[in-house]
Amino acid sequence: MHRYSPADDRTVRALAEYCLDRLAMDAPLDRPLTPAELESRAGQTVTADGIGGDEALRLWADVLGPACLSVDHRRYLSFIPSAPTKAAAGFDMLVGASSVYGGSWLEGSGAVYAENQALRWVAELAGLPPEAGGAFVQGGTIGNLSALVAAREAALHRRGGQRPRRWSVCVTEETHSSVKHALGVVMDVDVVEVPGDERGRMLGSTLRTTVAALTEERRAGIFAVVATAGTTNLGVVDDIRGIAHVAADHGWWLHVDGAYGGAGLAAPSVRGLYDGVEQADSFIVDPHKWLFAPFDSCALIYRDPVQARVAHTQHAGYLDPVTVDGEWNPSDFAIQLTRRARGLPFWFSLAVHGTDAYRDAIERTLAVARAGADLIRAAGHVRLLVEPDLTVLVFERIGWDSEDYTRWSTRLLDEQFAFVTPTRHAGRVCTRFAIVNPLTTEQDLAAIIDSMR
Ligand SMILES: *Cc1c(COP(=O)(O)O)cnc(C)c1O
Repeated sequence: MHRYSPADDRTVRALAEYCLDRLAMDAPLDRPLTPAELESRAGQTVTADGIGGDEALRLWADVLGPACLSVDHRRYLSFIPSAPTKAAAGFDMLVGASSVYGGSWLEGSGAVYAENQALRWVAELAGLPPEAGGAFVQGGTIGNLSALVAAREAALHRRGGQRPRRWSVCVTEETHSSVKHALGVVMDVDVVEVPGDERGRMLGSTLRTTVAALTEERRAGIFAVVATAGTTNLGVVDDIRGIAHVAADHGWWLHVDGAYGGAGLAAPSVRGLYDGVEQADSFIVDPHKWLFAPFDSCALIYRDPVQARVAHTQHAGYLDPVTVDGEWNPSDFAIQLTRRARGLPFWFSLAVHGTDAYRDAIERTLAVARAGADLIRAAGHVRLLVEPDLTVLVFERIGWDSEDYTRWSTRLLDEQFAFVTPTRHAGRVCTRFAIVNPLTTEQDLAAIIDSMR
């Protein structure tokens, strides 16, 4: 089983060919199947003798693959899609074939070196100092959790080990669910919910007055504030500059969640929205969202990586050879030990295309989103509900109820034309486009808007 046999060779060649075809084609949207449908079409795939490479790949190609949506389809505009470059997707295959252990410098120095250059590009876009750094982790969820755990450890340290009765973190209603889950469920930390403005933005002024109205005891338990650079549902950037002032005044950790919107830092046309991000103690952006890398990859960066190391380095006798001072171990910066070198596809594509191409591709999606907003404003049957900052457009079809949206959304997928789902904003059902794919055109958006007549 361990020797590379002629059968392995045939299987691997067939896989490589499948991948080449997939990367070259205009992939269909495809559709989810029910467990019963999959049961009847794929049946029992894991058997004592194995079904062999040909049959397993046939099952994937004919049954299982088409039961997975292609998130890189240019009319897939739901949730936050992903649109990897061919270089990034291709390099992901190489990472899989290479058995790189990305958790430590000892085992993966070449990979970590390359990943750190990609992190450096992001840190420089954010205006973070030269010593800033971190690691690529699975996604924004782990990035946010890891940053907040480091923040709490730093606060505990500063307070000489004295814990308040309850720890708290300031957020808004639009703060991502992963942050609220990390705080409430994983860390058992309270949230102070700061009311957003009419677009859900956290403003420095509201943060200040909200906190001033708390009891002394509650206020004393606050150790961090989370600013969102591109809210997931509305694509709106908080008042990071104002929030940073308040955080500095109180000695709180400022975490900036740019899982989706952080990519906009590379686009001169919107860079001003992020002013103040250079004050962040920690920052995340998901290359698998708007930075053209495949799942799954989150760049997690700390202003002072030493503080993160204090919180996250794992200690065990067998790990002693790994924890060498001065060596950069990605496992020291997040809740993870074993790690796929999940920043490498992003690094490779950045290295191949250059950072200017990233700037241009992000600007292109912004231009298409602006054109889409104009189309919505001009059409009589739809109404834009939120002025966009970035590439999320939230709008309603005048006169539709929840069922109308669901019927329409189902029809678009049935026709394999587009994947656009309903959402909710300010208590009403509506829909949204999230545009991260440079192949998405204004005509694509026009056709979808037309389909709502
Ligand atoms: C998507 C998103 C997350 C979660 O990231 P995952 O990569 O899905 O874990 C967190 N915050 C924001 C603002 C997001 O858009």
